[in-house]
Amino acid sequence: MAPSSTTSRPTARPRKARGEGQWALGHREPLNSNEQLKKDDNPLNVRARIENIYARNGFGSIDPQDLRGRFRWWGLYTQRKAGIDGGRTAILEPHELEDEHFMLRVRIDGGALDLAQLRTIGEISREFGRDSADITDRQNIQLHWIRIEDMPEIWRRLEAVGLQTTEACGDCPRVVLGSPVAGISAVEELDPTPAIDEILDRFIGDPQYANLPRKFKSSISWLADTPYQVNDISFLGVTHPQHGPGFDLWVGGGLSTNPRLAERLGVWVPLGEVAEVWEGVVGIFRDYGYRRLRTRARLKFLLADWGVAKFREVLEKEYLGRALIDGPSPDLPAKPIDHIGVHQQVDGRNYVGAAPVVGRSSGTQLSRLADIAEQHGSGRVRLTPYQKLLVLDVADDRVESLIEQMRAAGLEARPSSWRRGTMACTGIEYCKLAIVETKARGEELVARLEDRLKDFDADISIHINGCPNACARTQVADIGLKGQLVMNAQGEQVEGFQVHLGGGLGMAQGATAGFGRKVRGLKTTADELPAYVERLANNYVRGRTDGESFAD
Ligand code: SF4
Repeated sequence: MAPSSTTSRPTARPRKARGEGQWALGHREPLNSNEQLKKDDNPLNVRARIENIYARNGFGSIDPQDLRGRFRWWGLYTQRKAGIDGGRTAILEPHELEDEHFMLRVRIDGGALDLAQLRTIGEISREFGRDSADITDRQNIQLHWIRIEDMPEIWRRLEAVGLQTTEACGDCPRVVLGSPVAGISAVEELDPTPAIDEILDRFIGDPQYANLPRKFKSSISWLADTPYQVNDISFLGVTHPQHGPGFDLWVGGGLSTNPRLAERLGVWVPLGEVAEVWEGVVGIFRDYGYRRLRTRARLKFLLADWGVAKFREVLEKEYLGRALIDGPSPDLPAKPIDHIGVHQQVDGRNYVGAAPVVGRSSGTQLSRLADIAEQHGSGRVRLTPYQKLLVLDVADDRVESLIEQMRAAGLEARPSSWRRGTMACTGIEYCKLAIVETKARGEELVARLEDRLKDFDADISIHINGCPNACARTQVADIGLKGQLVMNAQGEQVEGFQVHLGGGLGMAQGATAGFGRKVRGLKTTADELPAYVERLANNYVRGRTDGESFAD
C-alpha cells in the first residue's frame, strides 16, 4: 500500500550549525591539531625552551609538538633530508622526511638592511649555515643547515644589529612587505616606513596576535612595487582630492591552491592611522577567521563569504569605532616595478638594482656586497619581493664601478630579461613539501635561455614552484610552473611541471591582473623544461600582433 500523504516521516532534526571555528561566534574549542597546539601553549613561548633546553640537549630532546609546530613562530622549519625523491613526499611521515637541520627565515620588513645587518647575516650563514642564503620573494633571507645548538648565538648576533626571526613563519603576522625605494624614490609622495615600524614595535611578538587561524601577509608601499594583490592586507599609495596623500586599503588576497586577488575596501587611510587599521583587520581575521579546516583558514575565504561591504562595516563598527573616509582608487602602472638597473633618487644620488639568479645567494656574496656598497659610499641595501636587491645612495661617478664589482660578485645590474623575470621557490633541496627541484632547474633554465635567446625582445616572467603551494606565485606569472610528477615519453613517472599561462599582476587600465590559465594537459617534464620554454617564447614572438603582451 502506498503511503498516504498524511503518513508522518521521521522528522529531520534541525542540524546544529557546524561553524567554522570562528572565535567571535563562540567556537573556542580547538577543531584540529593545529588549533589544539596553539591553545595548549602560545607558540611564542617556545623560544625559552629552545634557549634553555633544546639548544643544550640537542635535536633528539625536542618535543615533536614544538619541533613541527611552534618552532615556526621563531622562523624555524626542519629541512628536508637529502635524497628523498618527490614521489615520497606525500607518503612519508614527517620525521622520515626531515633532516636534523633547520631552515631559518630572517624577517626583513620592508626589505631594508644596513651594512652591519647584511654582514651579520653573511657571517651567520658562513659560520652556521654552510654558506647558504636565499633571497625570498617576500623580502626575507632564508638560511639552511642551521643546528638547534647554535640558535642562542644566532639570535644574539641578529638581535644585536636589530634583526629578528620573530613570527617569520607560523599562524601570525609575517614580514611586512614594503617598497625597496621607500624614502628615496623620486616619485613617492609619502614614505610609509613609519607605519611599518609602528606595526613591528606594537604588534610583532605580541601574544594577542600570535594565534591567528593561519598566516597573515601584509604589504605597505606608496608604489605598486610589491605584489599587493596577493596579500591578506595591502596599503597602496593614493592621493585623496581633499585630504592629500594616504593609502588605499586592499584585503583578502592570496595564492596557494585557491587563488584570489585582494579587493579594495574603498577607503583612504592617512599614514598615522595605518597601524590602527592594520590591527583592526588582523583582529577580524583572529576573531572571525575560519579555524576548522586549514585549507579555508585564510582571510580570503572570509572576505569571499562576507563581501566587501560587510567587511568594511565590521571593521568600522566593531574594531575602529568610527567610519573610514571613502577614497579614490590609485593610479597604477601597466606592469609591476622591479627597480632593476640604475635609477635616480629624490636627492640626486642613485640606486642600483641587481639580480642574483632565482634569488640564490650565499653568506660570502652578501658579505662581499656589504664591502662593495661601503667602498662606493653606500650604507644601505634593500631586498625586493622579486628575489632581487638594491644598493642605495650611490653618487653618479661611482655607479659604473659599483656595477662592475657587483657583476664580479655574481650580481648583475644589467641582467638578461630571463634572469630578471625568473623566480624559484625553495623546492626539493630543502623543502619537506616539495615534489620537484626548483633552484637548480631555474639556474639551468636561465643559462639556456640566455644562450639560445640572447636578443629576445620581450619580457616574460617565469615562476618555478616545487609543489601546488605557490610560494613563488605560480598563478601570476606569464609562465607559471607548478611542480608535480608527470609521465615521460617512456611512461615513467618523473619530476615535471603543470604549466599556467598568461597570469600577471598588470595593473593599469586595460592591463590584465589575473591568474594564468591552467590549460588541461599542459605539462612538461623537468628535463624538457628549457626546450619547452624556448618553444613557448618563440611561438609568442612569431604569433604576436602589435602591442600584444604574453598574457594577451
Ligand atoms: Fe616548498 Fe611548495 Fe612552497 Fe616551493 S611552493 S617552497 S616546494 S611549499
